[in-house]
Amino acid sequence: MQKPIILTTCDSDNDRFYLKRAYVRAIEKAGGHMIIVPSHAYETIAHIANDVDGLFLTGGDDIHPAHYGEEIEAHYQGTIDEGRYHLQDKLIALAVERKIPILGICHGMQMLNVYFGGTLHQDIAHELPGALPHDHHHQDSRGYIAHDVSLIKNSLLADITESTSLPTNSLHHQGVDKLAPDLLATGTTRDGLIEAFEHRALPFCVGVQWHPEELRDSASEKLFRTFVSECAKLPRKK
Ligand code: MN
Repeated sequence: MQKPIILTTCDSDNDRFYLKRAYVRAIEKAGGHMIIVPSHAYETIAHIANDVDGLFLTGGDDIHPAHYGEEIEAHYQGTIDEGRYHLQDKLIALAVERKIPILGICHGMQMLNVYFGGTLHQDIAHELPGALPHDHHHQDSRGYIAHDVSLIKNSLLADITESTSLPTNSLHHQGVDKLAPDLLATGTTRDGLIEAFEHRALPFCVGVQWHPEELRDSASEKLFRTFVSECAKLPRKK
């Protein structure tokens, strides 16, 4: 099997482009090559788009609510990354056109929902009274188990993980509000929040709200191995 090439984007500030090592480790351990592109790299992706076998959208800063038809709420606090949004919007379009596998984690999951026409909670704690605490950034470990996610039977995630309930971490203050019609909710927490989905028609397009790259349990490893092997299935177009 030729190792697939998996493209991902990254965070940035005034001085740096950066990405947590756990994402790179997870993809490489599962047998993939990782290429990280900065947010302005439209020319780069135009060059390599047809040589890429998969798209990996990681965690990151927030999406401007204008992209899902809302204004910024008075209670909103966070950091918005417009550059990354626009590059990812382009990358998802390319991936959908070529039907290559897409895996979205946290911000990446939210990005997929917005791309396909869904909306987000700008801040779960303000907008969903009675919701579980989902923002556990204060914990020492990003692997801290915060809640279970119930999976629907016969979903891609249930099949991959051979489970219908996953104990997961939770490192998000935003979440899916209205799910895009093209997406099927496959995982929820007991407060009703959608924490996993798959695309109804594409061969492999999965989003998870938690961070499997930080858990390193067998369910998370199976998810990365399946994503990478799905990427390896497609013949590379030249
Ligand atoms: Mn959560």
